[in-house]
Amino acid sequence: MEPLSFKLNTVRDTPKDEHLYPGSSMCAGCGAQTMIRLFLKVIGKNSIVVNAAGCMTLLQTYPLSNLSTGWLYTAFACAPAGAQGIRDALDSLIDQGKIPDEKINVLVLTGDGAAYDIGLQSTSAAMDRSLDFYYLCYDNEAYGNTGFQESGATPYASKTATTPVGRVNDIGTLKPKKDLFEIWRAHEPSYLATISPAYPMDLMKKVEEASHLKGPKMFIGFASCPTGMGFDPSLSMRVARLAVETGIWPLKKYAHHEITHTILPKFTPVEEYLKVQNRYSHLFNPKNEEAISRIKEQVLLYWKKFGIVPKSNSHS
Ligand code: SF4
Repeated sequence: MEPLSFKLNTVRDTPKDEHLYPGSSMCAGCGAQTMIRLFLKVIGKNSIVVNAAGCMTLLQTYPLSNLSTGWLYTAFACAPAGAQGIRDALDSLIDQGKIPDEKINVLVLTGDGAAYDIGLQSTSAAMDRSLDFYYLCYDNEAYGNTGFQESGATPYASKTATTPVGRVNDIGTLKPKKDLFEIWRAHEPSYLATISPAYPMDLMKKVEEASHLKGPKMFIGFASCPTGMGFDPSLSMRVARLAVETGIWPLKKYAHHEITHTILPKFTPVEEYLKVQNRYSHLFNPKNEEAISRIKEQVLLYWKKFGIVPKSNSHS
């Protein structure tokens, strides 16, 4: 696979072409769509999207399409296997001289349900085989397309359709969010990064950097989700930005055996992030104060591991 032929230094270098067109059936303010739009701007039209079941299935409602790229729909479990088939078919056709020998990217697109849970095995196998592909997980931290049920990505103390508050406990989800970054990192992919729609240059630079590498190029993106997380669509980028500023969603990359944090948090108090989302509204009942303290502890514990601590008075 050839690397991209342009370099992204400033926002002015952003490719003008659009490959995700407006007018989709997604919810207003969907952060996942912004991420996909930016991602496709970098890898370009010469791409085939292999889309596992999830919210973004609705980018293609036959006979209409919001994408300028090729598209293959698969079940939850097997998008990376579909990507392997596409990659092999393209390489074989190129070898036989039946199609031009030019760069065609294969991009797996899944929600967190497929990435963290149902499709984890086939993703593991694809990385094990060093499949040359991109993988973008738009992580809205629940099964958004079917009514926001708990997934392996759902964070502690958020309420979902299957972890309602008051029936079994007052907290909502009791388990911590699965650490997919570390699970994927154990496979030593060529490139691994977290991204956010609220940090477009960070996102696009990472995709551009990954394009120079052969093998699995893995991305986990924070998908601010007004419908499931419970906030006004106009706040979508604010929620995505607060996730990074509070330290809850670290922006980082793993390449050449090294983890680098690309944007450092301001350690804005986590309450600022929690209070704008209905899925956390129960935490502001005084009897649930302990749950907020636990979230803070977990955030600080994460950053302490990397020797990054808040200045006094922040994150209190
Ligand atoms: S449910 Fe959430 S992630 Fe799915 S399309 Fe709507 S806003 Fe986007």
